[in-house]
Amino acid sequence: MSRREVKHAGFLFGPVPSRRLGRSLGIDVIPAKTCSLDCIYCESGSTTHLTLRRRAFFAPDPVMAELEAFLRRHGAAVDVLTFSAAGEPTLYQPLGELAGAIKRRFPEFPLVMLTNGTLLWDPAVRRDLLPFDRVIPSLDAADEETFARLNRPHPRLEFQRVLEGLRAFRRDYGGQYHLEIVLARGVNDSPEHLHRLARLVEGIGPDRVELNTVVRPPADPVVQGLEPHEMERAAVLFPAGCTEVIGSFRSRQTESSCDDLPDRIVALVRRRPCTPEETADVLGAPVERVLQAVVDLEREGRLVRRRFHGGEFLCGETGTRDP
Ligand code: SF4
Repeated sequence: MSRREVKHAGFLFGPVPSRRLGRSLGIDVIPAKTCSLDCIYCESGSTTHLTLRRRAFFAPDPVMAELEAFLRRHGAAVDVLTFSAAGEPTLYQPLGELAGAIKRRFPEFPLVMLTNGTLLWDPAVRRDLLPFDRVIPSLDAADEETFARLNRPHPRLEFQRVLEGLRAFRRDYGGQYHLEIVLARGVNDSPEHLHRLARLVEGIGPDRVELNTVVRPPADPVVQGLEPHEMERAAVLFPAGCTEVIGSFRSRQTESSCDDLPDRIVALVRRRPCTPEETADVLGAPVERVLQAVVDLEREGRLVRRRFHGGEFLCGETGTRDP
């Protein structure tokens, strides 16, 4: 395999069927499952490298080259560019340099960051996030105990420090600050916990609160999501007028080519489990072709099918990817 083919498989995935962003082209500069947390609901499986240390896992230039090539061919099928990973994107040390270069070269695409927010106490991380149009950090817990049970943090990561980082970033950042909260049944969904969480959120003051739940196969198979009516009931407790329950993804149109379909399926579902229909929708391929490819990919051991919440999901092997 050529050097360029290796890089294509490593840096870009999707466009992903994001329920909140539309067709989101994922930019992933983190080795698989390298994260400061090991959330029980993680769609990408358990964290294999739990760390707080930022590193230049890859140089920015090949990422830019890959992005240039992809958008030249498939730009019409992309709504936003999103830093996201089967890990924590702010662990990438040259993040500010890469984000600035992307904004200068592709100003027409909103640049979004999905982060667990646990490194925002670091002024360098907050500075690196300034070029982004929207940053979506997470806060699922109102106390250290729930944080430990739900997010299983790195041993040196203190809950109060994470809260301080979320507040400091609100002061520094002028872009769209959305706070994501994932609710898991029996873990952080009690009325008492939700009340305390809502007070913390008010203290941070994000532009929007996005309430989410477990809708794809999680790292811990016993974890369950909430029903839609339970999510709506929880939303009432959070700041009025800026809280939304994340709805289902609806693709506007798919024009992407079916080139390299098996590789693109794997690149997509190893970061985010998708149903065959979602996969077909996002990759611009007939569902029959996706299902044909899935048969071969299953035989080769490159993906598996898992049932969750009444649906069948295609899930990739995250494995490890050396920098
Ligand atoms: S959900 Fe995000 S923050 Fe949590 S373990 Fe997975 S990649 Fe890390």
